[in-house]
Amino acid sequence: MTKENLEFKTEIKQLLDLMIHSLYSHKEIFLRELVSNASDAIDKARYESLTNSSVLENEKEWKIKLSVDKEAGTLTVSDNGAGMTRAEITESLGTIAHSGTKDFLAALQSKEVKDNPELIGQFGVGFYSSFMIADRVTVMTRKAGSGDSRGIQWESAADGFFTVEDVDKKTKGTDVILHFKEDEKKYLDEWEIRNIVRKYSDYIEHPIVMDVEKEKDSELKKGEKVKIKEEETLNSQKAIWLKDKTDVTDEEYREFYKHISHDFADPAKTLHYKAEGTSEFSALLYIPSKIPLDIYYKEYKMGPTLYVKRVQIMDHCEQLIPRYLRFVKGVIDSSDLPLNVSRELLQSNRQVEIINKSVTKKILDTLTDMKKNEFDSYLSFYREFGKVLKEGVHFDFTRKEAILDLLLFQSISKGGDAYTSLQEYIDGMKEGQEDIYYITGTSYDEAKNSPYLEAFKEKGYDVLVMLDEIDDFIVSGLEFKEKKFKSAIKGEIDLDTSTDDEKKETKKKFNALIELIKDKLKDEVKDVRLSGRLKDTACCLVGDEQDMDPQMAQLLKQMGQAVPQNKRILEINPTHPIFDSMNRLFEKEQKSTVLDEYITLLYDQALLLEGSKPKDPAAFARAVTRLMVKDADKAG
Ligand code: ADP
Repeated sequence: MTKENLEFKTEIKQLLDLMIHSLYSHKEIFLRELVSNASDAIDKARYESLTNSSVLENEKEWKIKLSVDKEAGTLTVSDNGAGMTRAEITESLGTIAHSGTKDFLAALQSKEVKDNPELIGQFGVGFYSSFMIADRVTVMTRKAGSGDSRGIQWESAADGFFTVEDVDKKTKGTDVILHFKEDEKKYLDEWEIRNIVRKYSDYIEHPIVMDVEKEKDSELKKGEKVKIKEEETLNSQKAIWLKDKTDVTDEEYREFYKHISHDFADPAKTLHYKAEGTSEFSALLYIPSKIPLDIYYKEYKMGPTLYVKRVQIMDHCEQLIPRYLRFVKGVIDSSDLPLNVSRELLQSNRQVEIINKSVTKKILDTLTDMKKNEFDSYLSFYREFGKVLKEGVHFDFTRKEAILDLLLFQSISKGGDAYTSLQEYIDGMKEGQEDIYYITGTSYDEAKNSPYLEAFKEKGYDVLVMLDEIDDFIVSGLEFKEKKFKSAIKGEIDLDTSTDDEKKETKKKFNALIELIKDKLKDEVKDVRLSGRLKDTACCLVGDEQDMDPQMAQLLKQMGQAVPQNKRILEINPTHPIFDSMNRLFEKEQKSTVLDEYITLLYDQALLLEGSKPKDPAAFARAVTRLMVKDADKAG
């Protein structure tokens, strides 16, 4: 095929532009990125070779080679990995912007990064970072196992275009040739290269080699020295997760985290351990400090990287952790799984199940420990990931209690800035209080001032404030330490302290009025009853215990899902003077238009209080102003 001149995709052009014109710090990361790509390409070929040995092309050793040509001003990063076809290289390095590109462009606009340009160095910015230091990049590649020496040459000067053409390439794999800019030639220096490799790529499993000049005793002439070139391995190659904890520095842990997560912040917690017994594996896991933007998307890639005896099997192995811990990143290296384990096999593998169990326990134990001993960092973790962790209460039956123990809530007695655990809540329960009360809502202040809580406040009962949409779904019907969760806005709440006789009396007093209201509102509500939760407010709407929260219903509607139309229950407050007045009106005149209007008005108010709209807002407004005029006339 002839030479093609192609245009980069728009996002890639933007990325290149930013890369060249706004990134000035940590340019040395280009090498980390190229070595990491080379290492991935080797992992890929090695994995393929397990089932197809032609990929090996009779070469036994995998390696990444760095070659310096001082005269030409170039550094070449070569690998003998998978290589690429013409179509693959055109897509991978030009026409398809991978998902990370958009995130990276967005991050470059963020204040955090603008204020701290050194953060740039921690991004996984990929192949295109080469253009920070090179004004031209040539890539020669040939697919491993292709059976001939026809390869592809890709080239670009980052001017919006790139070329691809056929070339002869004997060795399999990929060579990336960087033609350094005049003022970036320091990267040709051997020591500079050594240092960068050691800093960023020491744990890369494959040898990263370079020909270095050494002085040796001459074999021909005794006492004389000669200079010879010898290949030297620059990285220690020891997989960091297989090392002893004591041999790894904090910086190495952090650097590795950034390498695997592409996160630019430090992790909140690092867990490194070896499991022995029924299952042998090493785990190096991280809890990030910030929630990724895409964690709720279907495309979110979860799960640690799975290795089997140091051979990378897959990037994101979701079978290794439960979904509610999907924010955890890291590496698991098993000694028990077969090397040719496939995705299908992982679904029902006993070893994988054992690892999953062990890892889940370890993470939950770590969080429990954090909550107990480092509450502030736990709280920061919880603010980010609490919402995801909570899913476990619903989905992981066996660990429900442990996860509930990890939850934190705001509460009406603690104030909006503090959090309480369920245990603390139970410990603070008042005499006679049987249940754990909670209120759902969209803001703390709104929930706290809700009329539904009047009687709770009077009794001094604390009420948990739950602001996540899934809260009600998770806790309703649940128990913690044998205490039931009860919603303050659902079901019957009886906080009335009057005696049974007094209650009977009240019931009798309002019976006829309630029947009238029921009849008038029969299309709107399923029942009208006296309230045990109101003190100052006249009335409110509540659901049955098993009904969906208005908040949850709203969320489902927004997501385009059908929501069951449950009618609500109107509760009226017998201690409110309005009902005495209404009772008097009723006794005077059974069919009163005023009474009718009051009933509609009360119902509209109740709708407003639960966050809904009156059925006819204009009529509601007219009625209120009419009453205001009446009142003003009386006052005047
Ligand atoms: P990333 O490595 O994060 O996917 P890059 O921009 O660095 O992003 O690379 C894009 C793609 O190009 C890679 O996903 C890979 O498919 C391909 N690629 C890059 N370098 C190599 C290489 N040395 N060998 C084979 N494929 C490569």
